[in-house]
Amino acid sequence: MLILFRPDASATDEQRVVALIQESGCEAVPIPGLRRRAVAVAGNDGRVDGARFAALPGVEEIVTLTKPYRMVAREWRSDPTIIRLPGGMTVGGNPLLVVAGPCSVESETQIRRTAEAVKQAGAVALRAGAFKPRTSPYAFQGLGERGLELLAEVRRDTGLLIVTEAMDDEGLDQVARVADIIQIGARNMQNYSLLKRAGRTGKPILLKRGPTASVTEWLMSAEYVMAEGNPNVILCERGIRGADATTRNVFDLNVIPAVKQISHLPVMADPSHGTGRRALVRPMARAAVAAGADGLLIEVHVQPDQALSDGAQSLYPEQFSLLMEEVRGIAAVLDRTVAGAAAIAASPST
Ligand code: PEP
Ligand code: MN
Repeated sequence: MLILFRPDASATDEQRVVALIQESGCEAVPIPGLRRRAVAVAGNDGRVDGARFAALPGVEEIVTLTKPYRMVAREWRSDPTIIRLPGGMTVGGNPLLVVAGPCSVESETQIRRTAEAVKQAGAVALRAGAFKPRTSPYAFQGLGERGLELLAEVRRDTGLLIVTEAMDDEGLDQVARVADIIQIGARNMQNYSLLKRAGRTGKPILLKRGPTASVTEWLMSAEYVMAEGNPNVILCERGIRGADATTRNVFDLNVIPAVKQISHLPVMADPSHGTGRRALVRPMARAAVAAGADGLLIEVHVQPDQALSDGAQSLYPEQFSLLMEEVRGIAAVLDRTVAGAAAIAASPST
């Protein structure tokens, strides 16, 4: 960190800053300049917060030299993180992981039929919420524990991996018993107690980007999970809030290659929430794969017009099959494969 002084800062102003740095156990290294003087804070392990200096007399600006995140950064680990999943599948390496299913578990028939359809099309993991974060308290909130039981049955019967959301500290342990990948939803991206607890499960965590989160905030949330000793974090871009109501969100394609440069963690893409419109999901899913996403999260429903949540953005199974074909084609151009349909083909089905 550098503390830059105003041109009219007095010697007392500088001494005050130097004393504060030394009191906090760091070294103060003065940087003399003809027009501008500064002092560098050496040996700062995070103890010294720049905000302490910002309002002191004579101080003009605080320049932070190191990134606030550590473990998530490529500087810390240059190789990509490859997360191992049950059934020999992975995410973050060459094969793309395609996760598909309804927004919510609604009934036994709905989840079983949708699971069969996405498996048939080649998905290896089923997504569906048992606990739903809805904007309105009067909207369908999910089947809760019954939803988790249904997911556990579908997992057993189809071999599909399960991705489902943990909404709060109380529900996290229940979700962890069933989920192969625990989803932390966009609204909870900065729920730090939930992130810490998710970190302690050791399970793969799918961390969605908050609707207004900067990349740094998103990566700091991943850092929370990793700081608990859990390296298995999958980042998921799902659109950020924009000013135009044409789409539900602004699906931020830029962030996919950008975050992959900054971080070694796998980055997945959710064009369903990113666009909010069925007709836009396939084009943006293709674009996300072309941009380097390590996998997709796609909402699919056997009867989207009857869905209790997010029907307008849910694909019909036939559309999802087409998308899988397209994804295989784009993956091949990039010398990538699509994860393991073969790995679950042998498993029993309903
Ligand atoms: C979901 O995946 O259904 C969901 C609620 O996602 P998000 O947290 O991205 O809104
Ligand atoms: Mn949804």
